Amino acid sequence: MDKQKCILIVEDEKNIVDILRFNLQREGYDTREAYDGADGLDKARSENPDLILLDVMLPKMNGFDVCQKLREEGNNVPVIILTAREEEADKVLGLEIGADDYITKPFSMRELIARVGANIRRTAMAAPAAATAADAAMPVAGDLAINTDSHQVFRGGRAIDLTQREYELLTFLASHPNKVYSRVDLMEQVWNYGYVGDDVRTVDVTVRRLREKIEENPASPAYILTRRGVGYYFFA
Ligand code: CA
Repeated sequence: MDKQKCILIVEDEKNIVDILRFNLQREGYDTREAYDGADGLDKARSENPDLILLDVMLPKMNGFDVCQKLREEGNNVPVIILTAREEEADKVLGLEIGADDYITKPFSMRELIARVGANIRRTAMAAPAAATAADAAMPVAGDLAINTDSHQVFRGGRAIDLTQREYELLTFLASHPNKVYSRVDLMEQVWNYGYVGDDVRTVDVTVRRLREKIEENPASPAYILTRRGVGYYFFA
């Protein structure tokens, strides 16, 4: 099975990150996000992305320093610098310090996707695919993947330890993305109980535990969302 190509987005403007993530995922890419240069550098090292979209003006460490640091470490991941149009000199500096390409903001998404594809193809190497459970896992959303054979859930390639019920709740919701289920529905579907009064709180507790395990920020979940007054759904 072909491993999904992973794009690391390093950008401090959340709305840009969101639109990039959405469009890249729609094109079949897996994505990671970092909102400052230091975290971007960490994720570039730890997540081993296939390409980095790197903003220049970033908190903590600017994009040039991130790129330069990676190159000094011998990391040859393709880097596309995202630069503001008025900072035309940036593109020269960016290429000098080892970026592969640059794109000026505001960019057209079509152009960006084309550049990403071109840079990945250009640098594609026949990396042998390890037949691990993580590789065989089906991506469901963001960096979350489920291997229904091994009953394992992965985030960013790392296995997450879930109880059987947490696993069943997650796979049930994820297999019906964006469909909202009431607590009673979930009791019936996942717990196989009929309506059992106050026991529906079990659903809330399980959702909370699941969020603590799979969400980057459980207080502001990205995967399992609440539709107030209705129930829960898996956002994809
Ligand atoms: Ca910025």
